[in-house]
Amino acid sequence: MNNVLESLKKITDEKNIFVNEPMKNHTTFRTGGLADILVIPETKEELVECLKLDTNKLIIGNGSNILVRDGGIRGLVIKTTKLNNIKVLEDNILEAEAGAYLSRIANIAKDNELTGFEFASGIPGTLGGAVSMNAGAYGGEMKDVIIETEYADYHGKLSKVTEHEFSYRKSFFSNKEYVILSSKIKLQKGNKEEIINVMKDLAKRRNGKQPISMASAGSTFKRPEGFFAGKLIEDSGLKGYTIGGAQVSTLHAGFIVNTGDATSADILNLISFVQSRVKEKFKVDLETEVKIIGEDI
Ligand SMILES: Cc1cc2nc3c(=O)[nH]c(=O)nc-3n(C[C@H](O)[C@H](O)[C@H](O)COP(=O)(O)OP(=O)(O)OC[C@H]3O[C@@H](n4cnc5c(N)ncnc54)[C@H](O)[C@@H]3O)c2cc1C
Repeated sequence: MNNVLESLKKITDEKNIFVNEPMKNHTTFRTGGLADILVIPETKEELVECLKLDTNKLIIGNGSNILVRDGGIRGLVIKTTKLNNIKVLEDNILEAEAGAYLSRIANIAKDNELTGFEFASGIPGTLGGAVSMNAGAYGGEMKDVIIETEYADYHGKLSKVTEHEFSYRKSFFSNKEYVILSSKIKLQKGNKEEIINVMKDLAKRRNGKQPISMASAGSTFKRPEGFFAGKLIEDSGLKGYTIGGAQVSTLHAGFIVNTGDATSADILNLISFVQSRVKEKFKVDLETEVKIIGEDI
């Protein structure tokens, strides 16, 4: 990795480069081993130059939907959060860079009296992570508002896409070596007071039902067809079930939380335990929504 490090120092300021960086500092689960190198490019040009480096690469936003194993990540982690410009264009369109937080985009939409992004205001991720995952909440999904995305491949070649192939927690970008750089978001003219009220109402609903003050990655499992993961887990008697520092949330069984000193192994063991118990009891396979990455110790 020495070559990569030397090349990175020519691409971006040293303050943006972290060697042997604990991934627990970059994931909302607050777990995960060391990344060989983590870089936070400041501009699109810097990010594209990072992509041209000859090493394993992983792109992250806010790390709110990933679980990094305790052995960490070999190669280069590129974090997008400094790429976060948001522009207001004509025809009720916002253009946001990949690292912009959804909450900030929602606030800018509100300030410009644009409605349609309220659903995303409480999702603690970046635009890139949300487009890649087709994030959604309270009846809205990225697929309803994203009309065009600029992306780069892992050699730095730029392209645009308008057909995002969105489906439940999937998109054109799922499992591909592409990096989302920015997207255009098509909204409608709305009323500021009403937008504020919708955002407040959604925040209230989220705060009451989800363990948002604890470290987690949101819903651990995808919604199985015809069921709710949280209800299946609760009906399996697992609310509050704990392995090491990992716990099935006592507030919402669909969330696994880190009670303070969990390792990723604790969380993975709990995920497997929950999957086997639900399968045994209800014959339903729970698939993780959280992306599990990196190496075991
Ligand atoms: C308390 C809590 C509540 C949550 N509520 C919801 C919810 O209501 N609805 C919902 O859908 N999700 C929810 N989540 C999960 C998560 O916030 C979303 O999936 C979010 O969109 C992930 O964004 P991120 O920037 O954190 O992505 P990350 O976790 O950093 O990455 C997720 C995936 O996207 C990829 N990725 C990230 N950025 C890019 C990019 N620029 N280009 C290409 N690929 C990229 C990563 O490689 C990874 O595969 C919640 C999480 C928490 C902790």
